[in-house]
Amino acid sequence: MTDLTSLTLAEAREGLAKKSFTSLELTDAHLTAIDQAQALNAYVLTTHDRAREMARAADERIGKGEGAPLNGIPLGIKDLFATEGIRTTACSKILGNFVPPYESTVTSQLWRDGAVLLGKLNNDEFAMGSSNETSCFGPVVNPWRRAGDATALVPGGSSGGSAAAVAANLCLGATATDTGGSIRQPASFAGIVGIKPTYGRCSRWGIVAFASSLDQAGPVAKTVRDAAILMRSMSGHDPKDTTSVNVPVPDFEAAVGKSVKGMKIGIPKEYRLDGMPGEINKLWAQGAEWLKAAGAELVEVSLPHTKYALPAYYIVAPAEASSNLARYDGVRYGLREQGRNIVDMYENTRAAGFGAEVRRRVMIGTYVLSAGYYDAYYLRAQKVRTLIKKDFEDCFAKGVQAILTPATPSAAFGVGEKGKADPVEMYLNDIFTVTVNMAGLPGIAVPAGTDAQGLPLGLQLIGRPFDEETLFSLGEVIEQAAGRFSPKRWW
Ligand code: GLN
Repeated sequence: MTDLTSLTLAEAREGLAKKSFTSLELTDAHLTAIDQAQALNAYVLTTHDRAREMARAADERIGKGEGAPLNGIPLGIKDLFATEGIRTTACSKILGNFVPPYESTVTSQLWRDGAVLLGKLNNDEFAMGSSNETSCFGPVVNPWRRAGDATALVPGGSSGGSAAAVAANLCLGATATDTGGSIRQPASFAGIVGIKPTYGRCSRWGIVAFASSLDQAGPVAKTVRDAAILMRSMSGHDPKDTTSVNVPVPDFEAAVGKSVKGMKIGIPKEYRLDGMPGEINKLWAQGAEWLKAAGAELVEVSLPHTKYALPAYYIVAPAEASSNLARYDGVRYGLREQGRNIVDMYENTRAAGFGAEVRRRVMIGTYVLSAGYYDAYYLRAQKVRTLIKKDFEDCFAKGVQAILTPATPSAAFGVGEKGKADPVEMYLNDIFTVTVNMAGLPGIAVPAGTDAQGLPLGLQLIGRPFDEETLFSLGEVIEQAAGRFSPKRWW
């Protein structure tokens, strides 16, 4: 029998339906693979017993001929999603051993559709980061290595555990979240597919909040089709999230393989950065060629406020984070440090519980919201945000159906290599992805090639609000042309 962990989600779905193997066999194969991949540090908690129990229940349903879209499919869950009865930490010491008494809407929809929980995946603390190095559980190691070089590379972040687990065949797909690029950047660094849906497509209820006006859940997966399958289960209106939008959830999978003939695709000139590696430019041009060969029409477009997106994001996101993270005070849950009085207790708890990057964001956020600076920073950043959104609207108003850009300005870099002396060096990773969050649009990252050292590189397609289907159709064209990318096993 072929190694069950090397199947795509769609192939596993077919194998289960044909009874070529059971969900228990499929689940056990993944649990074994996880046990053997400790070196990657992708999982922060495995739920062996729960997984086998869920797999057995799925097998029973299959036996009775009962179908469900994800029946018996083993998945990994980013540790930002609350899972009832299972420790959820956002990879922060401040949440300690917090065990939520409730389940996030997105994960409850996955279980409703028959999926199996393998465990919780590592991420940057509170999803703040681009390399998974801010996690209190330590960094995730990318299953990819440079050719002939054993240097440990980062998987990107903040959904680094999700991306590494999918790329290393430690699950058939995973949940992730994206506030400024945390689905698309790690997907690119790991050679897999990741989609950030339109803001409001997936419920935020039960997901640890970072920056609420930007946060959005989405899947990472081995293929465009797998991402489409997962996204259907993750999407849908939820009255418990006031920003969740009540629109029908299409059959995203039906969009995979649809013709893109005659589609108008924009190439934004502002995404051509000085000093960007030549191979990224080459890949971008290659992607455009592939879409053209499939019948799409490529046009140059302008998104003039792009250069302000990153600075504006690093005001809006910390501002919202400082307010969201005010709830971690040692009173209701998680860590508590003693103090002489209540204020002292708050301060000691927060100083001990938050890592350096989180503390930096809380301080920046508090500063830009404070009296006297609010107008100069926060209010101005919000105005810039409106202009960024308008850039995209103008573009779509001219008939452009999607925009093609690189996903990241580089391939995966070494653990400990970036951001030590200057945090902005790390923030620059998000240069191509934050605009999409600022505008609330959907964006997909699809692996499109490798760099000179053999590391995967991704392209990004940005879509109109609630038109993820177009992204799946276009993404599959790139996937068909580029092929799939898998790391050589060394762990
Ligand atoms: N890297 C970005 C940040 O650190 C985005 C993180 C995210 O999307 N969660 O804020």
